[in-house]
Amino acid sequence: MKVGFIGLGHMGGPMCRNIIKGGHEVIVHDLVADAVQGCVDLGATAGGSIANVASQVEVVMTSLPMPKDVEAVALGPGGIGENAKPGTIYVDLSTNSPAMIRKIAEALAAKDIVTLDGPVSGGVVGAENATIAIMVGGDKASFDACMPVFESFGKTIVHTGELGTGCIAKLVNNMIAFTNMAAGAEGLMLGVAAGIDPAILDQIIRNSSGDSMGYRGIAKSALERDFAPAFTVDLAYKDLRLAMELADDLDMPLLLGPQVHNIMRMTRSKDQGGENVTAIMKAYEDIMDKQVGPAGKNR
Ligand code: NAD
Repeated sequence: MKVGFIGLGHMGGPMCRNIIKGGHEVIVHDLVADAVQGCVDLGATAGGSIANVASQVEVVMTSLPMPKDVEAVALGPGGIGENAKPGTIYVDLSTNSPAMIRKIAEALAAKDIVTLDGPVSGGVVGAENATIAIMVGGDKASFDACMPVFESFGKTIVHTGELGTGCIAKLVNNMIAFTNMAAGAEGLMLGVAAGIDPAILDQIIRNSSGDSMGYRGIAKSALERDFAPAFTVDLAYKDLRLAMELADDLDMPLLLGPQVHNIMRMTRSKDQGGENVTAIMKAYEDIMDKQVGPAGKNR
């Protein structure tokens, strides 16, 4: 299948490289030249512009930071809508809002372009190993047509229902994951402040009922003092905001998600928004003036 890929960052880069390795003909574009080169080295063609990518392919995919970035690439001047051929399938792999993906789909449908929302989960390691989950909402026949491409970079590939349901699944998943992560940060800080060795506490929790993927992520960062970005606080903050918007539309109270959003706001207020999402640990450490993990190592 001839595939276009726009947005070759932490997730898009490895996902796209796996599509290339899967034997598909791929045309790529990113604002960062090195990101493009990494794909060209594996056999992709550099499109040079969104227009050049969109006009030449059967399927065009995006993996972009914010809903406004997706909107600009899909509907903006020189974007996918202006340039893709009728019959093209557009798949947005970003974590986007259901409302935005529906707006994009409606505009593109007028040009006979089908839109699918296909957010992914599994992090950078999962993207590198092609083990991520892909949750896809929208036209089932188009989903089936894209399956050979999805299979080249994902493992659990699920059709979630109508357009927007992929985003809904992803936002719910991330709200649960970040809430677990924040609970882990709070628990680790409480334990350390009360005097237990964090490595011993961690050994207990990962073998007890407090364990979760979110807990493990934050414990690893805290104990190894490694907050290098793979998934930034800024993007996680965006995801929680989108989940809160969803709840607003439904008039449903969210009790935990907004608390975690506020913790992220504290982290961002210290210019740590570009660090890994696990840097929310530092909000607790600053309040308690104590570090979880070896003293003297990287804050
Ligand atoms: P990133 O910031 O690392 O990558 C985004 C890429 O898009 C960058 O390379 C940037 O140069 C490029 N870009 C931005 N605007 C562009 C434009 N107009 N034209 C071409 N390229 C453009 O972000 P990421 O971490 O890869 O996340 C991408 C999406 O995937 C986000 O929606 C995020 O929420 C979601 N996501 C991320 C992770 C993760 O672990 N990082 C996991 C699951 C989902």
